[in-house]
Amino acid sequence: MFDFIMSEGQKKLRDEARDFTNWVPKEMILDMDAEKIQFPHEYLKEAGRRKLLGLRLPKEFGGRGLGWVEDTIAAEEIGVASYSLACLWGVGADIVCDAIVEFGIDELKKEIVVPLLKGDTFAAEGLTEPRGGSDFFGATTVARKDGGDWLITGQKRFVVGAEGADWFLVYAVTDPSAPPHKRITAFMMPRTKGVESKYIYGLMGVRGGGAGRLIMEDVRVPERYALNGINGGFDVFVKMMIPERLGTAAMTIGSVRPAIDIATKYSSKRKAFGQPIMNYQAVGFKVSDSVMLLDAARSLVYSSALAIDSKKVHPGKCRRLVSESKKFVTEAAWEVANKCMQVMGGIGYTNIFPLERIVRDIRLSMIWVGTNEIMQLIIQTEWYKEFLKVLSKEKVRNVEADALNADKSEEIVYE
Ligand SMILES: Cc1cc2nc3c(=O)[nH]c(=O)nc-3n(C[C@H](O)[C@H](O)[C@H](O)COP(=O)(O)OP(=O)(O)OC[C@H]3O[C@@H](n4cnc5c(N)ncnc54)[C@H](O)[C@@H]3O)c2cc1C
Repeated sequence: MFDFIMSEGQKKLRDEARDFTNWVPKEMILDMDAEKIQFPHEYLKEAGRRKLLGLRLPKEFGGRGLGWVEDTIAAEEIGVASYSLACLWGVGADIVCDAIVEFGIDELKKEIVVPLLKGDTFAAEGLTEPRGGSDFFGATTVARKDGGDWLITGQKRFVVGAEGADWFLVYAVTDPSAPPHKRITAFMMPRTKGVESKYIYGLMGVRGGGAGRLIMEDVRVPERYALNGINGGFDVFVKMMIPERLGTAAMTIGSVRPAIDIATKYSSKRKAFGQPIMNYQAVGFKVSDSVMLLDAARSLVYSSALAIDSKKVHPGKCRRLVSESKKFVTEAAWEVANKCMQVMGGIGYTNIFPLERIVRDIRLSMIWVGTNEIMQLIIQTEWYKEFLKVLSKEKVRNVEADALNADKSEEIVYE
């Protein structure tokens, strides 16, 4: 984040997150990338020890009670060490715990959130099914009532922490006869009898987070583990898309940032035709465009964070801003990663520099937590709603009337 807009407290938090990122052992990053580690428990343990998990959550459960601006400042720094680690930092503490604090009963907050923010346990999220992730409300995982409990049966796919998690936030259909938005329940499901993780995927990047398929066969879950009550999953899903997507945007900035640092250093020293390659505009402009893209990305994330923190901005507009952040940042990051690799020439494509890992990691950002096409859908929907209901009625200059032939109403034909 830009240091000129940070308060002293925010700078201190940034430095704490940087210290933590500097602590991360190189072997952990390499072993995760080589899939020798499937789930780095000690990373979360250390984050918990430093009180760097669940920054926005109330202090009584182990959080710091901070806002979104602070969260994005920390997430950028956390992202620097590895995209995969940043994901683990965010999923359990920033997303699942947020859902429990917002929608769970007090007992669950003590039972799940407190140990999780200490780094003793981890919670994963199961939304995507083999049948599809974008069409979330077409879920086929079901839960049927059995006495005071519910029995969950179905499958989820690509769950980060399928290997390694103690808890899963899973969505299941509890009232098949109801319309899609009223038939789903969000359950906190422990790793217990009937839960199996399978197929730890061979991933292009973002490895070592235990991403796999989750198979559930009559998993018994007490009704009190339902967040927002039975059939209340819609509100949980909608609310959780904020931390999913804004958190992802912020950590993506951090994960791609080192690419610019590497390319800047290299191009200022590497010579061709007798001079540093940064002097060739074809090279220097790639770096300058990367810097510009990342600054623009930061600005959008910062304004989105401010909008949510203010609590004064309409939820629809927040949804649009968050979706814009996710789409813009991830596409900018992909462009930045590729431009920086190009600046390096052949050596950028080798593992002498970590750029090839950054490129592999960043590619996922446009796919997960809702694809960028789904972000477009949300931006489109929210923009038309907002413009037609609100913005078109604001007292701004009617520029349409400034056209030379604006009075030729017979030419303004709509159907
Ligand atoms: C490494 C990794 C980790 C992940 N971690 C998790 C996790 O922890 N938990 C979890 O629940 N999920 C996770 N995911 C899943 C991820 O969020 C989904 O892959 C993603 O949402 C897309 O779903 P899908 O793969 O089923 O693609 P589909 O939904 O089948 O989409 C396929 C294509 O069709 C497009 N498309 C679909 N519908 C529309 C539409 N209406 N308009 C325009 N285009 C459309 C999509 O944009 C995409 O390009 C992870 C995925 C990966 C690869």
